[in-house]
Amino acid sequence: MKILFDKKTIQKRVAQLGREISNYYKKTPFVCLIILKGSFVFGADLIRAIESDSLEIDFIKLSSYSGRHSTGVVDLKDELSKFRGKNLLLVEDIVDTGATLSFFMKKLEEYSPASVKVCSLLEKKEINRGKVKIDFLGFDVGDDFIVGYGLDYNEKFRNIADLVVYEG
Ligand code: 5GP
Ligand code: MG
Repeated sequence: MKILFDKKTIQKRVAQLGREISNYYKKTPFVCLIILKGSFVFGADLIRAIESDSLEIDFIKLSSYSGRHSTGVVDLKDELSKFRGKNLLLVEDIVDTGATLSFFMKKLEEYSPASVKVCSLLEKKEINRGKVKIDFLGFDVGDDFIVGYGLDYNEKFRNIADLVVYEG
């Protein structure tokens, strides 16, 4: 598998993102909402690159809600009510078509968070085409299927330290 970004490059970029996010929020309290499962590695590194005394961390598993399952709505209500009035920073591994995040952000609106910003490690800009606005972006990537650094193919390869292109 071809290395797209090695761990050193990732580490540098994550440190820069941490500084950008720290500078943006300054003393404002906010919640890093890490979207599972793919973002758990990125999220763990990112929160440690952020300087803030009022940062809270939370997690949400979105994959089961990203389709049109009506059951997801009930679960989301329990999960999302606690974010009313909070400043949320959504931490995503990759934005491809933007469908997952736009669905989720629309749902979030019903629970009136104070603000919602998006930090994504990767974006397929050519595919997302601005559908989801990413406030803090790690890297723009092409239409390859990427694994490693938390990203999977059928639950495998999350443990690879680099971001690599999956080649069957
Ligand atoms: P979207 O809804 O933006 O099209 O896709 C978002 C989700 O699809 C991501 O959160 C991720 O789970 C999955 N995905 C999209 N592209 C890739 C990719 O290149 N590699 C991996 N591992 N997952 C991807
Ligand atoms: Mg994901």
